[in-house]
Amino acid sequence: MATSTIDLSLADIYDLAKTTLLKYGANEENSDAIANTVTTAERDGSISHGLFRIPGYITGLKSQKVDGRAKPEIEQVTPIIFRCDAKNGYAPIAHQYSLPPLIDAAKKFGLAAVAIQHSHHFAALWPEVEQIAEAGLVGLTTVSYLPWVAPAGGTTPIFGTNPMGFAWPRKGKNPIVIDMATASMAMGEVMIAARDGHEVPLGTGLSASGELTTDAAEIVKGVLLPFGGHKGSAIALMVELLSGPMVGETFSYETQQNDNADEGPARGGQFILAMSPDIMSGNKSGENSNDQTDRFFEKYETIEGARLPGARRHKNRQNTGPRAVNAELVATIRQLRDNC
Ligand code: NDP
Repeated sequence: MATSTIDLSLADIYDLAKTTLLKYGANEENSDAIANTVTTAERDGSISHGLFRIPGYITGLKSQKVDGRAKPEIEQVTPIIFRCDAKNGYAPIAHQYSLPPLIDAAKKFGLAAVAIQHSHHFAALWPEVEQIAEAGLVGLTTVSYLPWVAPAGGTTPIFGTNPMGFAWPRKGKNPIVIDMATASMAMGEVMIAARDGHEVPLGTGLSASGELTTDAAEIVKGVLLPFGGHKGSAIALMVELLSGPMVGETFSYETQQNDNADEGPARGGQFILAMSPDIMSGNKSGENSNDQTDRFFEKYETIEGARLPGARRHKNRQNTGPRAVNAELVATIRQLRDNC
């Protein structure tokens, strides 16, 4: 099915996102943080976390489960452990407050972690780990969500789509950035496939009656599966533990119990770790870790058919021109903004 699109500049995308958020009561600081996240997602071709998310962001503001005026509070629990109370705001504002002290501590002590609580994460994870890598550090983060994914062998959901992000810094080059759901496909992607009438690969999920199907709309009504069978299922379990009890927050099933089911993003936690390869490795070999990893990545890239994670987004980023956005989505957001 052909999808009609409309060309929007990155400035137009930012403006559409921000003005709509402001209309629904988010303050300048929060609207700016979310609009930046949305715009960078569209810029990099991560369209399932771009403007596509604005109606959901607005739903959370309308039902008042999310505070669009949140001012997160950071507590330094030990020299290297921070706790961020996101104050029921959307995640981008929590990152704005918590990443600078996290980065400073990791640079000084070799590693540092932040436990983000009471946050509503509705975006991709690469922005936070990429910011850590741009500071010369390795970033690792996990988020759990609503239980949409069945464990290997089962048909009943218990895991969120449970993404994890990892970034490795490179001097003078784009960092390596891995950002992936542990579900075989992120629910946002399945929803876009359902909207556009596309099939998804067998193994993505099960219909409501527990059958394997390639019909994205049936999977939206049913359950997703983890990637990679029992191994992906084990990693999804690890993400549940790191994003829940490790940071003093809920498991996906508890998140659902606390949620008002308005289809806006639910409240939960996020684990973020920053590590210094220079301090950890001690540079004993007499060369810095950047030279060693550069040789590895160069070797990797000589393998025919292989590319480095993050390369697709970084290539998309070089295009500063307009982005083709789903026309129906743009109309929906404009309507939301103009009829508030
Ligand atoms: P993908 O499967 O598209 O990509 C996963 C990773 O693999 C990316 O780092 C990607 O890099 C890399 N990659 C893809 N193809 C190749 C290749 N051929 N060779 C080497 N590397 C490759 O992502 P998902 O569908 O799993 O996740 C989509 C997004 O959804 C993520 O941003 C995730 O954070 C987000 N999400 C957010 C949730 C939330 O609750 N907030 C929940 C679940 C998911 P590249 O970017 O360069 O393609």
